[in-house]
Amino acid sequence: MGRAFVYVILGGGVAAGYAALEFTKRGVSPGELCIVSEEPIPPYERPALSKGYLLPEAPARLPSFHTCVGANEERLTPKWYNEHGIELVLGTRVKSADVRRKTLLTATGETISYKFLIIATGARALKLEEFGLSGSDAENVCYLRNLADANRLVNAMQSSVGGNAVVIGGGYIGMECAASLVINKIKVTMVFPEAHCMARLITPKIASYYEDYYKSKGVTFIKGTVLSSFDIDSNGKVVAVNLKDGSQLPTDMVVVGIGIRPNTSLFEGQLTLEKGGIKVNGKLQSSNSSIYAVGDVATFPLKLFGETRRLEHVDSARKSARHAVAAIMEPDKTGEFDYLPFFYSRVFTLSWQFYGDNAGEVIHFGDFSGTTFGAYWVNKGHLVGSFLEGGTKEEYETLAKATRLKPAVEDLDELERQGLGFALAV
Ligand code: FAD
Ligand code: NDP
Repeated sequence: MGRAFVYVILGGGVAAGYAALEFTKRGVSPGELCIVSEEPIPPYERPALSKGYLLPEAPARLPSFHTCVGANEERLTPKWYNEHGIELVLGTRVKSADVRRKTLLTATGETISYKFLIIATGARALKLEEFGLSGSDAENVCYLRNLADANRLVNAMQSSVGGNAVVIGGGYIGMECAASLVINKIKVTMVFPEAHCMARLITPKIASYYEDYYKSKGVTFIKGTVLSSFDIDSNGKVVAVNLKDGSQLPTDMVVVGIGIRPNTSLFEGQLTLEKGGIKVNGKLQSSNSSIYAVGDVATFPLKLFGETRRLEHVDSARKSARHAVAAIMEPDKTGEFDYLPFFYSRVFTLSWQFYGDNAGEVIHFGDFSGTTFGAYWVNKGHLVGSFLEGGTKEEYETLAKATRLKPAVEDLDELERQGLGFALAV
């Protein structure tokens, strides 16, 4: 059994949705494009799962957050794909790929062949078992990557109201889920190995602002240690978390956010990999000229900083997907992907944005006892990164523009004095 398409997108997440929209804007014909996804629903804005989806009242539910509403673009419902003649092969895992034959083999035994393939397989959540622990399958242990995980988390929260949760990991999932748990009236203890939360991105000073805010909401932080085991009752539920430092935390549920691994396994030995992802050039094209890779799974040249990176954020998934489609459909008119990294988060009433690179010396600015503050990163005499909490739309836009220009910074004290004013004057 087999079907042939001109374009196939492997994976049905954020990047797939934005690629599909771009294909239609550039004039794909009905029957030419197919999306194969393990998820049973068409692409949606994954960031909603740790935010609006977890609200106790009026939570976000599909179809409201199908791509591409996150970028204020059209919402692509199943009807939309149908009307555009785009074949959706959902709930179907691809179990092998043959790049020489240009075919994918699905778990249902179907062969799908392509002229051009876009790999948009994203990433999977790391499991505790990969760190030598066990207990991930207990019904009140929650990871968060897809809708099924989010439903499991909602169920666990609903049966833990007024009780306790332990959050393992102090990264994005840990911080956003901890806030959602608090909003659901669950008392949270966060456990992570680093000295402060979000250690890969923010400074101790910025982290201390967020940790104090979380503490004011009743969150307890246990830092510098990790989980050693779970106590599981006869119903298969975790009732306590044991830590390496010897302490024990009785709990009603556990949320684990300890990082991700890109889904590259189908292509290992067939395509060049780098930094854990599929290596692509400035056109998002892999070591095989018919195959492109976008989103979390792609390691691409970051022109602005002269090195390759793999990013795990929604803006880069959206933009790399669009660029790959442009490069496939209009190769002569499409230049190199020139991307400014952009990360953000929203929790409680807080909201921050980050642009560029967090390399070099850090200069903090603004009022850390108030609601608006930020930081600049200066590397080799140039502004390379910026962070702002509590900014306005215009301020964020100004910061992004200034960071992209990498202006020279002569005097760090002066930069500190000027704060946001520096970006405004660039
Ligand atoms: P994904 O969206 O993960 O999609 C990958 C798709 O490929 C999935 O549908 C998967 O099922 C499918 N797939 C994988 N392997 C196969 C296979 N073998 N066969 C068939 N299908 C397959 N980023 C931000 O910048 N801001 C945020 O606020 C934010 N919030 C987030 C909240 C959560 C809960 C999560 C999990 C992530 C969040 N992110 C956020 C990160 C952002 O969602 C990702 O960077 C983005 O989803 C990456 O898009 P992608 O298309 O590369 O991968
Ligand atoms: P992150 O990489 O952000 O954070 C993982 C955290 O877990 C780090 O603090 C890490 O510490 C810690 N950790 C690692 N191993 C252990 C362990 N054995 N025990 C306890 N802690 C451990 O990943 P997340 O899981 O939080 O997020 C998953 C993905 O979802 C990421 O790609 C992220 O970008 C994305 N996401 C993005 C959001 C946003 O942009 N707003 C929101 C939600 C998710 P260490 O650094 O020492 O390894």
